[in-house]
Amino acid sequence: MANALVWLRRDLRLHDNPALAQAIADGYMPVLVYVHAPEEEGDWAPGAASLAWLHFSLLSLQQAIEARGGRLIIARGASLAELERLQAETRAEALYFGNVYEPLLQARDAKVQQAFERSGIAVKRFNASLLVEPWQVQTGSGTPYKVFTPFWRNVSAAFSLRAEYPAPSRLPASPETAGLTVEQLGLLPAISWHESFWTHWRPGEEGAQELLEAFCEGAVDGYKEQRNLPDRTGTSKLSPHLHFGEISPQQIWRRIGALQLPESAQPDATHFRSELGWREFSYHLIHHFPASTDHNLNPQFDRFDWAELDAESLARWQRGRTGIPIVDAGMRELWHTGWMHNRVRMIVASFLCKNLRYHWMHGARWFWDTLLDADLANNSQGWQWTAGTGCDAAPYFRIFNPVSQSEKFDPQARYIKRWVPELQQLPTPLVFAPWQRPELLRHAAPEYPVAPMVDLGESRAAALAAYSRR
Ligand code: FAD
Repeated sequence: MANALVWLRRDLRLHDNPALAQAIADGYMPVLVYVHAPEEEGDWAPGAASLAWLHFSLLSLQQAIEARGGRLIIARGASLAELERLQAETRAEALYFGNVYEPLLQARDAKVQQAFERSGIAVKRFNASLLVEPWQVQTGSGTPYKVFTPFWRNVSAAFSLRAEYPAPSRLPASPETAGLTVEQLGLLPAISWHESFWTHWRPGEEGAQELLEAFCEGAVDGYKEQRNLPDRTGTSKLSPHLHFGEISPQQIWRRIGALQLPESAQPDATHFRSELGWREFSYHLIHHFPASTDHNLNPQFDRFDWAELDAESLARWQRGRTGIPIVDAGMRELWHTGWMHNRVRMIVASFLCKNLRYHWMHGARWFWDTLLDADLANNSQGWQWTAGTGCDAAPYFRIFNPVSQSEKFDPQARYIKRWVPELQQLPTPLVFAPWQRPELLRHAAPEYPVAPMVDLGESRAAALAAYSRR
């Protein structure tokens, strides 16, 4: 039986993995390979939190492969060179892999494909991460979509749920080739900041399935309302697992579809699916507008009067010391768990881009380094949406008021008090805007800023004025 390299990247799973399943179905002995090549991602090489997740994800994958008698070959270096070396060493006759969509990686994959095909090695590529490939849908006039609703209408109609690709029950012992251990990749940060994350997360395929089951048993019924409330687990928390491909959107879609939900919960399931749709939309945008990772999608904002960056102010935002409790709670949740609730992501991003008037890239960069689910497509789209510079974005003049947002979505201030514990002694209504009673605040929480770092009303007016000067 001939060997085929199965190059694993953002499909770190054995179940429902089209590249792996097809290599076996085509009669090959799969040689499972992971090549670590962060330099190939340019300025968007994975951040510290992402690398820490990857460490544990690879360990989990390795364990699952070894439990089936196989081996994960780990390499470090330029992808093409490493794959060519492994192909020669294993005499592999084919290369199989799932697609990725980040602009630099797409270009890299095209080069790998060309080089292999030129040497007579068959290359097969698969959609391993999306419901539909970004190039599979277009508007009636043949252009990429820029508006979510028609995009999603088309995708929902265009995609068909396929049967799950089975996970192999046994894997062949790979040929003797040199490989690294996960530890040798040095993915964990030198400081122990990430250690608190792992009480909240279990990277890997099993952890993803556990979360999906928990979501199906609990939060899916009521998702539409609960998803906006940051003090509870009202969402799936599958985002890091989806980013690394430890679970596929098809698997999620299939599981949700199989639930016996009451009629009243059907809108919840539909809404949840549409969030997967926003992920698809982000990938559609990054594929068709590759510059959108670094540049405004709406060029009118290229002339916008962003404020000059002040490093100390940015640090206050990053560390959750702005004096605005919901913003600080979100930034501290991020620092301690590697994740932040979506509603709060919008609030902290709006505060940075509008009240502080800093370019969205400053926020996107911090998220990139600290989010476990940091994902170039979703992060660029999330920031551009909130900043108002993106496609189908919240208009710039819609400025979130963090006080009314927290009153509405964290009415008992449970979320704020969890992450900003120094405010626990304050009566609840005051927790939303503690600067209104500075003497009480000083007494109850002497460590907490006595005033917000910017006046919310004045900074809002300044942002609107800048907007009208564009
Ligand atoms: P659920 O509500 O359970 O949704 C299920 C899945 O749908 C998510 O796991 C995610 O893959 C997808 N999804 C949900 N909401 C969105 C959305 N608004 N846009 C795109 N996909 C979505 N998401 C990331 O995965 N990585 C990022 O780097 C990222 N950065 C963001 C930055 C900003 C400023 C904002 C406003 C949003 C960002 N998001 C990002 C989107 C969203 O906040 C997260 O996907 C979501 O909070 C993940 O939680 P969940 O898995 O519980 O979501």
